[in-house]
Amino acid sequence: MYGKFQQHLQQELNSIENAGLYKKERIITSPQSAEITLQDGSRALNFCANNYLGLSDNPRLAVAAKKAMEDRGYGMSSVRFICGTQDLHKELEARISKFFHTEDTILYAACFDANGGVFEPLFTADDAIISDSLNHASIIDGVRLCKAQRFRYANADMADLEAKLQEAQKCRFRIIVTDGVFSMDGNVAPMDKICDLAEKYDALVMVDESHSAGVVGEHGHGVAEKFDCYGRIDIFTGTLGKAFGGAVGGFTTGRKEIIDMLRQRSRPYLFSNSIPPMIAAAGIETFNILEESDELHTKLMENVVYFREKMMAAGFDIKPTQSAICAVMLYDAPLSQKFAARMAEEGIFVTGFYYPVVPQGQARIRVQLSAAHERSHLDKAIAAFIKVGKELGVLK
Ligand SMILES: *Cc1c(COP(=O)(O)O)cnc(C)c1O
Repeated sequence: MYGKFQQHLQQELNSIENAGLYKKERIITSPQSAEITLQDGSRALNFCANNYLGLSDNPRLAVAAKKAMEDRGYGMSSVRFICGTQDLHKELEARISKFFHTEDTILYAACFDANGGVFEPLFTADDAIISDSLNHASIIDGVRLCKAQRFRYANADMADLEAKLQEAQKCRFRIIVTDGVFSMDGNVAPMDKICDLAEKYDALVMVDESHSAGVVGEHGHGVAEKFDCYGRIDIFTGTLGKAFGGAVGGFTTGRKEIIDMLRQRSRPYLFSNSIPPMIAAAGIETFNILEESDELHTKLMENVVYFREKMMAAGFDIKPTQSAICAVMLYDAPLSQKFAARMAEEGIFVTGFYYPVVPQGQARIRVQLSAAHERSHLDKAIAAFIKVGKELGVLK
């Protein structure tokens, strides 16, 4: 049987490659950081990781993980509710609740699982899920697993959201679902306006804080802090794989009864292994670091402002950003790929995106800034952008 199937796969793979969409992996031999070493021994500056607070290679997190491995062992060999919960898991959940000012938290192996397991236990065919058109793939998959009626509104478009809320008035319950920060433009969901509409049309509110937690808000506590929406958002999901240390792990945090119901019925929680003790312990240490000082968040924001201003002064077309994601607009798909490849040759890793990942004619380079970047790293990246920009005719 495999012969025919193999042929079929080979054809599909060829068409992916011909469309220029074939994904290759870059193999790193150093820790994840501002500066990384590749397999051939070369070094590069990394501007395409989600390492927003620079915690991926933080020594305190490694020490906390090591200590937990010595004290509490390597793995849990169980799902949470059978015998996979240590004190560390409960403490991490409490620390996440404190960070987001919520009542309770449930951990998952990843935010992909948190989003995959949040809708189906809570909503039925009588209910409506009203989702931003640019929401993350894991939200889309989570919605698919649930029988609720689906409504989609244009990205951050409040008039369209209002229209969809009106359409959904006949449903039993309604929930508005949005990413906190959208990963392609770096724009932030207008949570205050979303909460206003939710109140007007009697809807629940859920936000995925994966790209916004640790980044957005005066102290980096996410969109509720930024828009002063504490108490108005019912469900938050998030990841430990981005700003919060960059290892693995996800969570849902919010109202007590919602979290309680997820512990009873959420399938990725009930039927998938518990996160290892070292991840829980390093997660707790992450929140220790963030509670002790705002230093990392402040440095990240200074880096964002510095990079944006220098790039705009150089003549680049930059999407307005309120996050650590900076989109350098090129509008041309082959140019975006050529630009990113030339940047890599200059020792700067950035990502070129084009249709269908972004809308047709909206090709761009995405730059992700980090508290791990020093001024010298930023200057080197900006100089490379200017050099390649002139070479490829983007800058005059
Ligand atoms: C990265 C991301 C996820 C997935 O997080 P993992 O913990 O890596 O599974 C989910 N939602 C959004 C918005 C993300 O950006």
